Amino acid sequence: MPFIDMTGKKCGRLLVIGRVENTRKGQARWLCRCQCNVETIVTGYALRSGNTKSCSCLRNDLTVERSTRHGHGRRKKATQTYQRWKNFRHRKKTTLDFLEFLEKEKPQ
Ligand SMILES: [Zn+2]
Repeated sequence: MPFIDMTGKKCGRLLVIGRVENTRKGQARWLCRCQCNVETIVTGYALRSGNTKSCSCLRNDLTVERSTRHGHGRRKKATQTYQRWKNFRHRKKTTLDFLEFLEKEKPQ
């Protein structure tokens, strides 16, 4: 497998910090830091294929998002933001995905 230097690359929420030892199958692995500050080791293939975009917090967030979509109340703010994002997407006012949109909406 050709060696591709991923250092400094961003994949979703992950920033590639450096290479770590290969898997037993000889796949390159990379140490990444997630936006939530969790460090995780990901294979180059997983990074490049877009399968892995966070330490797993992203998936957790999406699960929360899915579970709040039909519910009322619990995370009202997120739901409102989600509705607004859906609206914006519908009217082509934004090309951001929901998580990026959420980041921008977050009060500083
Ligand atoms: Zn994370």
